[in-house]
Amino acid sequence: MPTPIELRNSRLGARLVAQLQRRHFEAYYCATAAEAMARVNQLIADGSTVTWGGSMTIRDMGLTQALHGRGTLRVLDRDLADGREAAERIYRQAFGADVFLTSANAMSEDGVLVNIDGNGNRVAAITWGPKRVIHVVGLNKVAPTVEAAVARARSTAAPVNASRFGIDTPCQTDGVCHNCHSPQCICNYIHLLRNSPGGRHVVVLVGENLGY
Ligand code: SF4
Repeated sequence: MPTPIELRNSRLGARLVAQLQRRHFEAYYCATAAEAMARVNQLIADGSTVTWGGSMTIRDMGLTQALHGRGTLRVLDRDLADGREAAERIYRQAFGADVFLTSANAMSEDGVLVNIDGNGNRVAAITWGPKRVIHVVGLNKVAPTVEAAVARARSTAAPVNASRFGIDTPCQTDGVCHNCHSPQCICNYIHLLRNSPGGRHVVVLVGENLGY
């Protein structure tokens, strides 16, 4: 018997899948991170070149490790890069990958994915390059409107990510966005993904709190 929270999540998941399909995304709802991991693995064919952005979601759920463990993929792992230059080489190689994995900083209830980026490599790869982009998104990232999703990205995700990387931004000091122009700003790019051109994007929604 599902709990009331599980019921709510599955109903919200079904609604979000419909909204995403309306925007030409391939979309799935998975109740747990384990189910989502199985789904993503199924979506990636043996022999694919796979890489990812800085998402905590895909790391925390063990997905990056699982992809290494398959042994049938070419994995470009920025986490294993030896220094900034090596990482930047992987960022560039990502444009030729078969699959780019990421999460989102937020998503609106009508299916718009929101990402903020300081460097721009993640939103660049989401926009163009890798043949497919798979977004794994916990329901904790869902906000009622696009405006609320952008606010979530800047007032919830940004301060946590700034702390995580030790970046000195005003939001790190008090947890609130100051619309800063700091040289270390992590909101240089604010990206809205409204539709999935050519069905390039897949969204795997997860009924758990994942990432920030
Ligand atoms: S304070 Fe700056 S870095 Fe922090 S969320 Fe606002 S614009 Fe982004």
